[in-house]
Formats: sequence, C-alpha cells, structure tokens
Amino acid sequence: MKKETICVQGGYTPGNGEPRQLPIVQSTTFKYDTSEDMGRLFDLEASGYFYSRLQNPTNDAVAAKICALEGGTAAMLTSSGQAANFFALFNIASCGDHIVASSSIYGGTFNLILTTMAKMGVEATFVSPDCTDEELSAAFRENTKAVFGETIANPALTVLDIARFAAAAHAHGVPLIVDNTFATPINCRPIEWGADIVTHSTTKYMDGHGAAVGGAIVDGGRFDWMAHAERFPGLCTPDESYHGIIYAEKFGKEGAFITKCTSQLMRDLGSIQAPQNAFYLNLGLESLHVRMPRHCENGLAVATFLQGQEKVARVIYPSLPGDKYYDLAQKYLPHGSCGVVSFELKGGRASAERFMKALRCAAIETHVADARTCCLNPATSTHRQMTDEQLAAAGIPAGLVRMSCGLESSEDLIADIQQALEQA
Ligand SMILES: *Cc1c(COP(=O)(O)O)cnc(C)c1O
Repeated sequence: MKKETICVQGGYTPGNGEPRQLPIVQSTTFKYDTSEDMGRLFDLEASGYFYSRLQNPTNDAVAAKICALEGGTAAMLTSSGQAANFFALFNIASCGDHIVASSSIYGGTFNLILTTMAKMGVEATFVSPDCTDEELSAAFRENTKAVFGETIANPALTVLDIARFAAAAHAHGVPLIVDNTFATPINCRPIEWGADIVTHSTTKYMDGHGAAVGGAIVDGGRFDWMAHAERFPGLCTPDESYHGIIYAEKFGKEGAFITKCTSQLMRDLGSIQAPQNAFYLNLGLESLHVRMPRHCENGLAVATFLQGQEKVARVIYPSLPGDKYYDLAQKYLPHGSCGVVSFELKGGRASAERFMKALRCAAIETHVADARTCCLNPATSTHRQMTDEQLAAAGIPAGLVRMSCGLESSEDLIADIQQALEQA
C-alpha cells in the first residue's frame, strides 16, 4: 500500500461486525483460561497480551501503522519521544559503552546523552553533522555501539546526510539510529537511506494537534546482530531473565531489537503510552499525509517572505534555495522538509520580544509541529539563563525566532508577520 492508504487504514483491519474505529483497549490486564496459556506468554513462546505495561492491542495497532509507514519490520510505542530515544540507545548501549551522536540534535536528547546516560556509564562523542569522513571515522572507539542523528534537527534545522552516516556506522559494525520526528515518513524514510532504527516524538507532526505526548521506535530489520555478536551481547547471548532466550537467534534480524526492548526495557522501566493517547495519535496519523504538504507549503511561503524583509538578518529553512542544507534537503526531502522556520531579527532580543508580542495568529509556545502556528524566542525562554555571548557561541543569536507554521492560510500568517515586523 502507498503511504496515503497506510495513514488512513494501516495497523487495524476490523473483522465482520467489529468497530470501524480503532478500539481503545482500556484494560491493564488480560484473562486466560489456564496457567499454561499464560506461562507460554511469559516465556515468549506465544504472542499475546498479559499486562499493559508491556503491550496493549491499541498501542500495537498504532505501532504497526507507523512501522508500515517507515518501511520497518517491527515497532513499539513509548510514553514520549524522550523515552523512545532513551530506549533505542539503552537497548544496545549500557555501562562501559560509547555512542557517536550528531551535535545538532534536540536539546532534550542532547541532555539525555550528555548528562543522564553519562551517569549510567554510557559515554558519547558528538560530531558536527558537517564533519568530514575522517572526523566521523575518528569518533568511533572499540566500545562504540551506535550512531545517532536527526533527519532534520530541532531547532537548528540542519539536515543529516543519512547515507554517509549509515556507511560510517556500518563500516564500524554498529547501527545508525535516526530520529525522524520533523520529517515524518511522509517526507523521508531513513531506512531506505541505510538507517537501521528510526525513532519519533509522536507528540509533534504525527499527533499534529498538540493533544498527546508520545514516542515510537521502528526497527528496519536489516542490521545483522549475530554478525557482530561480541559487540551486542544483550541481543546475542542468553537472557537469563527470559529462561536463556537469545533474541537475535529466536526473533531474527527483523524482530530481535523490538522484542528485547519490550520484554526488558518496557518490563523494567515501564514507559508505556496510554492506550487513550495511542488512539489520539492514530487520529493524527489518519491525516498526516494531507497535513505535511500543507505545513511545508506554509513553511516555504513564510521563509520566502521573511527572506526579503529589511528587519530580518537571516532565514534558516532547508527547503529555501540558498540555505546551507538546501542540497541535502533536495536529496533526502524532495517533497518538502517541515513547517518549522527559524529567523534572526536584526534588533536582537528586544526586537524579538516586540515582534512576538505583536503577533495575532502565531501564539508563543514551547511546542512545534502543531496545526496552530506557534513561535518561540530561545533567548527569552528555553535558553534564558545564557548571556548574548554564550548564545552566539551556541549558534543561537538573541534575536532568533523559531516559528512552527501550522495549517492556517499562508496569506494570513504572512500578513500577521508583516504587521508584527513593523512593530519590532
Ligand atoms: C520533541 C522532540 C523530542 C522529545 O520528544 P517528547 O515527546 O517531547 O518527549 C525528541 N526529538 C525531537 C526531534 C523532538 O522534536
């Protein structure tokens, strides 16, 4: 099926007389006739449900839809995008291990890797997405277990050269994990370019209405764990907490990663998505293929307008001709990138504050990828503890505004921006 059809119908096919809409299985537990029946589930000998901390039918249907959209072989939902990235990394990298990550990633993921995972004994080397092949290769160590990057980075809007990062990861015997939140599988399918695992904050475009926090992990099913068995003992040696199951042997390349992630990490850490939230997510997914082109159309219209404005120092938007990442965007995101546009006002922090106060359509929010246009000035919000000098060093000028273009009329958005610029 094509992506459009998967968005609408994937993951759930009702039988005769069953509900047309995906049922919310609002149940923590599931009933069995015999202890033997249940025992087989606990031994991973049979598939089925026993407790919603591990698996729930509503969640599985939505995960199957996202899996099909990304072209993967197995997938799971998590309670948030943060949980998805943590689980994807921690499933293969634990104490004493090392990961290579792009330095241009979401702040929450950067903190997760730099601070929290470091406390767990996982070290990281950050590389610029624009580094040379030699610099990338030099970042690997004996104990490196994964490479991580974002298709379109939030908020820097850099575009990852997925094929190049995948080639480097594979040359060192490790998988590439790509956070595809901003592009969504409508605009880019990282697995087709060599990525092995794809993660999502479904809170963003997939939900698309600012209704539910959530995440997802998809396995491309191509990484051969057994060919690198010494590097991945968690997948390739017996799991004593599951009667000696060897995940890569029993579930193969297609299923080992997600089965281990569910049966170990979900069991022990419990970051399950509420079935109710999975239902909201599914409603969002049903129109993802219709909404993404409109977000991109509005993003490009706003970026093009801003580029010609006197009070605007620069515009960052990967689909805008002349952008630093335009060529990569044309390669990986030929039908559009996303609805998020960043731009710097010449007047700095005060100018950004006046501009945003004057906006009528765009609301001030720490959110992106919503049907409603919203914006943020990092210098006075998420990064307000930093001085102008520190902000400049971090590549976030004080006058930078991140605008997430929603689904309104681009004419109204541009008129709103125009009148606000006059007051900036
Ligand atoms: C928002 C975001 C996250 C974190 O997701 P939550 O659902 O907020 O936990 C991770 N990666 C990217 C690219 C994001 O934009």
